[in-house]
Amino acid sequence: MFDCIIAGAGPVGLYTAGMLEKKLKVLVLEEHGRIGRPNHCSGLISRNLEGFVRIRKRWVENEIRGAILHSPFGREIRVEKPGTAAFVINREEFDKDLEKGVKSQVELNARLLDFSAERDRVKIKTSKGVRECKMLIGCDGVNSLVAGKLGSRPREILNGLIALVKEENHGDFVELWFDKRLTDGFLWKIPRGNMTEYGGLGSSLKFQTLEKFFKLKGYEKRAGLVPIGPGKSYSERVLLIGDAAGQTKVWSGGGVIYGLTCARVAAGVLEKAFEKGDFTEKFLSGYERGWKKEIGKGIAAGLMFRKIYKRLGNRRIEVIFRTGKHLDFLMNKLDMDFILSKRTLARS
Ligand SMILES: Cc1cc2nc3c(=O)[nH]c(=O)nc-3n(C[C@H](O)[C@H](O)[C@H](O)COP(=O)(O)OP(=O)(O)OC[C@H]3O[C@@H](n4cnc5c(N)ncnc54)[C@H](O)[C@@H]3O)c2cc1C
Repeated sequence: MFDCIIAGAGPVGLYTAGMLEKKLKVLVLEEHGRIGRPNHCSGLISRNLEGFVRIRKRWVENEIRGAILHSPFGREIRVEKPGTAAFVINREEFDKDLEKGVKSQVELNARLLDFSAERDRVKIKTSKGVRECKMLIGCDGVNSLVAGKLGSRPREILNGLIALVKEENHGDFVELWFDKRLTDGFLWKIPRGNMTEYGGLGSSLKFQTLEKFFKLKGYEKRAGLVPIGPGKSYSERVLLIGDAAGQTKVWSGGGVIYGLTCARVAAGVLEKAFEKGDFTEKFLSGYERGWKKEIGKGIAAGLMFRKIYKRLGNRRIEVIFRTGKHLDFLMNKLDMDFILSKRTLARS
């Protein structure tokens, strides 16, 4: 019997495995035959990534210094840092390297089909047979089967679309467009070095909107879903981490740094759970309290802002841009991930 079975070998599942395997016997289940595929992530990740892994040159397609935000009627706000603020990462290469660092067994083409938490174990049905463990960790992404069985759902699920164009672009700013005629989220352009990425996020965004707005002709399509607003993340003998728990930044949909942050919290709680032999819902609720301390305020503020933003028309958005222009000194100091955390407030 395994101590922990992790469903999903995305960045969060693999990072969690790397942390847990120091003390526990771990198995990772991945439904696909290759790590990192399919890839539907922009991989724009802040320098906070350096706090989790050593950055490898081979993943980094470009380095970003800041962002240009465009209003519906042509205003611009420039947010920039003195040096590199974020990396444009090739997610396939990143995930593959994370897997290389994991010593535990990673079973490919092994889809989690069902599970039942029993008195002393979790019985897991996979496409490759039955497995047993003491704790099941759902890192199985936005359509998480584990979350579904726990009845845990994000507040919203948005479409994330990417159009990759073979246009060399080594620029050091990403561009973002906010316009309700296009989407209730935003559109973006990311310089990826050898490529340019056009993309967007929104509740009913379609590729036609990207094609029309960016005047796209030939491009490679990638599409995924982004959970917004976390659901419950624990139950008896089960935890959820990453997109499976809806742990993403509400204002951008980015989930890598939040997922890794929560994986660390989970590893600490699980270590204690194994020491005490306590896998009850009550004990595991400490995980949710822990991750909320790290990212809860940012998510709550983001959800409040999103609720307001969804009701705003373009004229009001324009007014926000007019005001925002005078606050650029503050915006330049904001941490991309931990907007309301002590570290950002201390710097501003
Ligand atoms: C268009 C788009 C752009 C994005 N851009 C960014 C960005 O720039 N920066 C950023 O930080 N985030 C971005 N994100 C979000 C980011 O991709 C996710 O937050 C991140 O991948 C979450 O990692 P995860 O490990 O939790 O889940 P995932 O990466 O989704 O991994 C889940 C894994 O579980 C496997 N799985 C699923 N179900 C099962 C099952 N039943 N059994 C076994 N395995 C299973 C899947 O195959 C997958 O490998 C973007 C998302 C989209 C859609």
